[in-house]
Amino acid sequence: MELPEQPARPSFIDPRRPRPEDFLESLALTRTFPCLAEPGKIIVVGRPSRPLDEVLPYLATLPNVIAYNPEQQALTLRRQPGLVTFGSQRVSITQVNDAAEGLEFLAALAEAINATWEHRHELVPAVAPKQVPRPLDVWALLPQSNCRACGEATCMAFAFGLIHARRRPDECPPLRTEPAYADRRLALRAVF
Ligand code: SF4
Repeated sequence: MELPEQPARPSFIDPRRPRPEDFLESLALTRTFPCLAEPGKIIVVGRPSRPLDEVLPYLATLPNVIAYNPEQQALTLRRQPGLVTFGSQRVSITQVNDAAEGLEFLAALAEAINATWEHRHELVPAVAPKQVPRPLDVWALLPQSNCRACGEATCMAFAFGLIHARRRPDECPPLRTEPAYADRRLALRAVF
């Protein structure tokens, strides 16, 4: 389904003077879309001043990576809340309040990309793909009691919330407190 698009003037969001060692000179906001995962919020799309191919293997070493496909130059990071997805020539951020906040996030992202590039010699670039956990795999690690203490109607709904970075494992009270779930708790915390 084609999403209705909200026009956004291209805006360069890194106002400081680029340094010669910077990977990116700029990350421009090019589009915004309604965010289906969170009604009332938007997705912002940014265009980097050069392809991200060389820096993606280093960004893929960050601890909040949930999916990485080196062949397709596609990387998804979890943020709280929402997701950041990188392609070779595109960045998108979900669950943003408005375009002004999107500009701030893109500016912070440009700085993070440049900082990662600056420190790349201290990192081992990622070469293996990493997959998003499947909902059933996540559900299997939850208590599966549908007790609703987390505010979701079912444990499966909570599993989707984890995958879409709307929820955190500790928001399931039984998982957080009951010793019987200690192993599952550790497993989910390692992923989310
Ligand atoms: S609190 Fe935990 S066990 Fe209860 S419905 Fe939510 S995810 Fe399932």
